[in-house]
Amino acid sequence: MAEETLFSKIVRREIPAEILYQDDLVTAFKDIQPKAPHHILLIPNHLIPTVNDVTHDDELALGRLFTVAAKLAKQLGIDEDGYRLIMNCNRHGGQEVYHVHMHLLGGRALGPMLA
Ligand code: 5GP
Repeated sequence: MAEETLFSKIVRREIPAEILYQDDLVTAFKDIQPKAPHHILLIPNHLIPTVNDVTHDDELALGRLFTVAAKLAKQLGIDEDGYRLIMNCNRHGGQEVYHVHMHLLGGRALGPMLA
């Protein structure tokens, strides 16, 4: 059984976060250390430690991350200029919190990804 992270506590509202969206499957909240004018984390409500652990049963929640990301981007007015979606996996991917999450970054030109 994988160990919960602070993100599960954010889902259950046991620790504070600026939650922008929540439904039965996913939660979106502002990153505590934003790397862009808009930096939002979108997570499945249930714990999936890394992308390596994803199964067929997770497809609905993970698909929902994209529809919510697009909805929030539109609400924030960054859909036309564009934004970046990132998911880090394990050490080489730079993953720090072991609860699958999508970063939504926007509000400025982000430059080339693989510089
Ligand atoms: P990773 O490096 O795992 O892809 O990204 C983890 C992200 O979680 C980082 O951008 C970090 O700033 C964010 N983060 C870590 N702890 C907290 C927290 O307690 N609250 C919020 N809102 N974000 C957090």
